[in-house]
Amino acid sequence: MSPTPVVSVRDLRVYYGTPRGTVRAVDHVSLDIGEGEVLGLVGESGCGKSTLGRGILGLLPEGAVSDGEVLYGGRNLVGMGAKELRRLRGPDLGLIFQEPMTRLNPVMRIEDHFRETLQQHEPGLSARELRTRSLETLGRMGIPPTRFRQYPHEFSGGMRQRIMIALALVLRPKLLVADEPTTSLDVIVEAQILGILSDLRQTFGTALLLITHNLGIVAEACDRVAVMYAGQIAEEGDARDVFADPAHPYTRELLRSTISLETEELHSIPGSPPNLIDPPRACRFHPRCPSAMVVCAERNPIEQRIAHGRRVLCWLHGPEELIPDGGTEPLEREEIAVADEA
Ligand code: SF4
Repeated sequence: MSPTPVVSVRDLRVYYGTPRGTVRAVDHVSLDIGEGEVLGLVGESGCGKSTLGRGILGLLPEGAVSDGEVLYGGRNLVGMGAKELRRLRGPDLGLIFQEPMTRLNPVMRIEDHFRETLQQHEPGLSARELRTRSLETLGRMGIPPTRFRQYPHEFSGGMRQRIMIALALVLRPKLLVADEPTTSLDVIVEAQILGILSDLRQTFGTALLLITHNLGIVAEACDRVAVMYAGQIAEEGDARDVFADPAHPYTRELLRSTISLETEELHSIPGSPPNLIDPPRACRFHPRCPSAMVVCAERNPIEQRIAHGRRVLCWLHGPEELIPDGGTEPLEREEIAVADEA
């Protein structure tokens, strides 16, 4: 049984206005993240993963417009005032960024970062409580108390990232969004950080949205996975089920392009993700899809539920009654090229 959702995203849309047109970075996305659950969000760069993570937290840059619902504690975060959102960020909703050095103030000791964070959200804490809580959280990240008074530059990249995670966790958030948290780290440090992140569910019951382009990370650390393509969720389900038997051709292609010990020949998905100002009509993946059928270039796929509650946005899974005559014929390569140029 799925855990109680901490956050429910319903029909979320995030658009940016640009001189060349409107970028539909997140287009009608729905998903739940349960208490103590780790949901991996994967897909190529430019598919809207980071925008979705920030849209959930209400941390969008100026000029972005969001619509739909992000339900947290019975309230919709979309359209909530900046002041109220700021109050929730930290004690309820946390974000771990990719580049820790750009987030840590180089002239402040680690101790001061913790003091500032805790005092902002829990002003009633005594100096002793503040120190105890900070050291306890840092200790869980493997940072000893002797380093509490040091400056960010005195730590390695991996340690700085652990400090950032500790800073996010010291407030015990209910939901944490980690955006590519291990991208710039070596594999050993990456494994340590992932271990820490996936232990969060036991320690704090935190729900975690882990954004990454690395499927190996998801296989190791996540309960469920959502595969994002061109601003939409292509497939979502139990991580083991999805990896064992991907239902969406894009998931299959992503898995084939992942290097593992069994890799004999490197595969890359032909083409690149579409421009989100003017994405391909009907199924957005059809210009690149090896299984594309005639219907895929004509009609929007309709989300289907398949075994074990998995969701898939692909005509291969029906509904058959909505596929017109001849719709299941393979889409010819020439037609793919024409659709690509259109
Ligand atoms: Fe491929 Fe068609 Fe499914 Fe899109 S709807 S992923 S083009 S088979």
